[in-house]
This record gives sequence, C-alpha cells and structure tokens, in this order.
Amino acid sequence: MKIDILTLFPDFFNNLSNYSIIGRAIEENCINVNCINIRDFSKDKHRKVDDYPFGGGPGMVMMPGPIYDAISHVKTKKSKVIYLSPQGKRLDQNIANTLSKEEHLILLCGHYEGIDNRIIDNYIDEEISIGDYVLTGGEIPALVLIDCVTRLKPGVLSSETSYIDESHYDGLLEYPQYTRPREFNGFKVPEVLLSGDHKKIAEWRESESIRVTLEKRPDLLNDL
Ligand code: SAM
Repeated sequence: MKIDILTLFPDFFNNLSNYSIIGRAIEENCINVNCINIRDFSKDKHRKVDDYPFGGGPGMVMMPGPIYDAISHVKTKKSKVIYLSPQGKRLDQNIANTLSKEEHLILLCGHYEGIDNRIIDNYIDEEISIGDYVLTGGEIPALVLIDCVTRLKPGVLSSETSYIDESHYDGLLEYPQYTRPREFNGFKVPEVLLSGDHKKIAEWRESESIRVTLEKRPDLLNDL
C-alpha cells in the first residue's frame, strides 16, 4: 500500500519510520509513506497557501489551487483521496478494515479554518473524522488513520490473531490480559489462565469479552 500525505507540515511525520510496528512496516515495505508539502504547489512568490474567507469571519482558509495541484501530482486511477475532517464519517474498525484493502491512499490534512469547499465537493472521495472534537490540523488524524490501517496489513503484526482477538474486530472488546508476575501487590492472575487447559481458557476469554463489553461499552452490543 502506498500512502501519500498532503500537508503543510511534512516535518510532523519525520519520525514515523523510527518507531515500533509502523516503523518496521515502512522498513519492510509493507507500506510506503510519502509526504507532500502543499506549499510546494503555491504559485505565490511568498508560497502563500491560505486566504481570508469570502463573506468574512475569523481565520484563514486553505486555497483550492495548491491542494488541487498536490492531489493531481500523486493521484492515479487506483487512488482513494481522503480529507481528514471533523465533519467526516467517524473512523472505526470497519472503516480501517475497508481502507486496509486499498492500494493507494491520499490523505489530505487541513489546517487553519479548513479548506476551500470546492475541493471537498469535487476532488475528495471520503471525509474521515477521528472523533467529535476539533483539532488544529489533520496531521494527528492522518497518523491515527495510518496506524490503525497499517497494523491490519498482512505481515505487519507478528500473528494474524493479534488483531483478530482485539477489541472492535468482531464488535466486542478484548478479554483482560495478564503477564508476569503471577501475583502483583497481592493481586493474582485469574487461575484459569495458569491451568494450561486451552479449551477452558478460550471459554473464559469469550465470556470475559462479553462481560467487559457489557460493563465498559454496552452500546457496542446494540450493533451486533
Ligand atoms: N472549521 C472547521 C470546522 O469547523 O469544521 C475545522 C477546521 S480544523 C481547526 C483544521 C483542520 O484540522 C481540518 O481542516 C481537518 O483537516 C483537521 N481536523 C480537525 N479536527 C479533526 C477531526 N476530529 N478529525 C479529523 N480531522 C480533523
């Protein structure tokens, strides 16, 4: 999968390849991430990319020209152009699964008051939000999207079950996890996990998964 990030702050993504699982996925070419500076497409001698909103109001709006040129620079027939936006569909595991099957994602990060709406109306395939709150820019949402999509790509996690068992994969939250020591500050690991009885462990995990979902996110059970 190729991911092109269109941003005014490419340095924000500098360390992406240095850390943990995503870094390894980039290193091993499971994903190929590339940053495009929208400012490079400004035709203004001061490399201006924003202007006052028509009709008045606070802040600046990103102009359509440099964004259009940046999209055109990387877009192919196989691209999906996504604008990270608080007005978009809320990102969830289903959306991450669907996007993980795409060949080429173009992630457009807005800033300031956002972008000229003619871009959204005419050149964006999907608007995606990472939650019902407003951030200063689309860079953190782009990172969130890259992370949750990348870990679903074959070969990125050490074992496929790593994400199959995880929260939200099948609509439930994951069962509780424990590691050594067996006793910590007087708190013990559930006995069944030490029993070596894999059938019992699987049954316990299934029922715990339902219990935890009921306790923490009962709303998820309505969607099953
Ligand atoms: N004026 C816009 C509005 O009210 O809908 C908000 C603009 S916001 C300050 C600047 C940029 O941050 C947006 O263009 C978008 O790219 C990004 N952004 C902010 N909140 C976001 C969210 N919850 N999810 C995804 N992107 C977000």
